[in-house]
Amino acid sequence: SLTGRNLHLSFGDNHVLRGVDIQVDAGTTTTVIGPSGSGKSTLLRVLNRLHEPQQGDILLNGRSVLKDNPDELRRRIGMVFQQFNLFPHKSVADNVALGPRKLLGLSRDEAREIAVKQLDSVGLAAKADARPSTLSGGQQQRVAIARALAMKPQVMFFDEATSALDPELVKGVLSLMTELSQDGMTMVVVTHEMGYARDVADNVLFMDDGVVVETGSPEQIFSDAKSDRLKSFLSQVL
Ligand code: ATP
Ligand code: MG
Repeated sequence: SLTGRNLHLSFGDNHVLRGVDIQVDAGTTTTVIGPSGSGKSTLLRVLNRLHEPQQGDILLNGRSVLKDNPDELRRRIGMVFQQFNLFPHKSVADNVALGPRKLLGLSRDEAREIAVKQLDSVGLAAKADARPSTLSGGQQQRVAIARALAMKPQVMFFDEATSALDPELVKGVLSLMTELSQDGMTMVVVTHEMGYARDVADNVLFMDDGVVVETGSPEQIFSDAKSDRLKSFLSQVL
């Protein structure tokens, strides 16, 4: 499980997270929705300590991690962003194998084996020796997901993973994310895809202005909104 408690973060005098609580139980998927600038991406970056919270605590499996080396937490959390950030001059398999080689210290052969297995799991075994630029955006994003999975993370974060894709490619990436969720991966997914946010989530978190305004089951959030802020957000996006 991953827990954030009373997380605060300011950039200068911009108080971006104002006491955020999040509880993601092992094997569950939490989707995070909310208007642009509400702090969704910042929350993910605080949860893996790319930004250190100025107040609050982060717990992995019930244990506070703030005193540990941040690299240990980042190794346990796989991140997938809007931009794939694949190395253009390396093959697809080498992109996936890089983390296991450099960060887990595996041999070239062991890392290659893991890479090919992960590529197979995202339906891209045939592209192992291709350059990323010869793949579609959707395929490149699946490679980025395989790269994150190759590190055997305990939790996966997705931040608008489909926002940069052509509409016809979105479905393939979303169905891969759905499969991962159904296979029991622990996930936190920031998304503007409301259908996906509703269908795949165990819990939905609605953020506005640096706070969690409402959290609950998909039914509670999408069919029984309590606050005016959530009602007005949903009326704009649904
Ligand atoms: P979007 O849906 O557009 O991605 P978001 O909910 O992810 O929005 P954040 O990117 O978390 O929003 O930004 C929240 C606020 O924090 C914004 O006011 C933004 O300008 C500010 N912010 C984010 N990152 C930084 C940074 N590195 N330095 C300064 N301010 C930042
Ligand atoms: Mg964002």
